[in-house]
Amino acid sequence: MRFFETHLHDENGTLALGVALSRALLPGLVLYLHGDLGAGKTTLTRALIHACGYVGAVKSPTYTLLETYELHFGPDTVELVHFDLYRMGSPEEFLDAGFREYFTHNNICIVEWPEKGDPVLPAPDLDMVIETEGHGRHIKLHALSEQGSLCLSRLHFAPNL
Ligand code: ADP
Ligand code: MG
Repeated sequence: MRFFETHLHDENGTLALGVALSRALLPGLVLYLHGDLGAGKTTLTRALIHACGYVGAVKSPTYTLLETYELHFGPDTVELVHFDLYRMGSPEEFLDAGFREYFTHNNICIVEWPEKGDPVLPAPDLDMVIETEGHGRHIKLHALSEQGSLCLSRLHFAPNL
């Protein structure tokens, strides 16, 4: 499966998609999240991280640029790295900070404002775009690799319209 899109009627819709996505995740995935300020990128990611069993607060990495979470997928431990590159000054900053080293075959990386990391940010498996639509949101998910495609085929989401 290469593409999925849906309307998210309200915040609960975004939270429900985060839960559904958490069940479709695979180690090593890189997810890009495009969308304006306030689109719902952090809301979606927060729901996903909590649905993976993380109990603490999930803060927006607005100033820290990234936050890491240790998640347990059955017997396996996976590190999820949540980036927000909005305040990153330049792509060189990404390289100098060693951020590329977080992109391993085992880590899951979710990146808000991926355009700020162009061209040094590793390519995504799943490219997502959230836009305002009426009072809610519209989200598109594009698989750009075999792993991304596998993730989309594992995604079971029935919007509550
Ligand atoms: P971003 O990280 O994209 O800047 P946030 O997730 O921080 O955005 O904020 C999104 C805002 O939009 C929150 O106030 C949230 O309650 C709201 N929101 C999230 N999803 C929806 C939706 N589907 N419909 C309407 N409002 C939403
Ligand atoms: Mg955000």
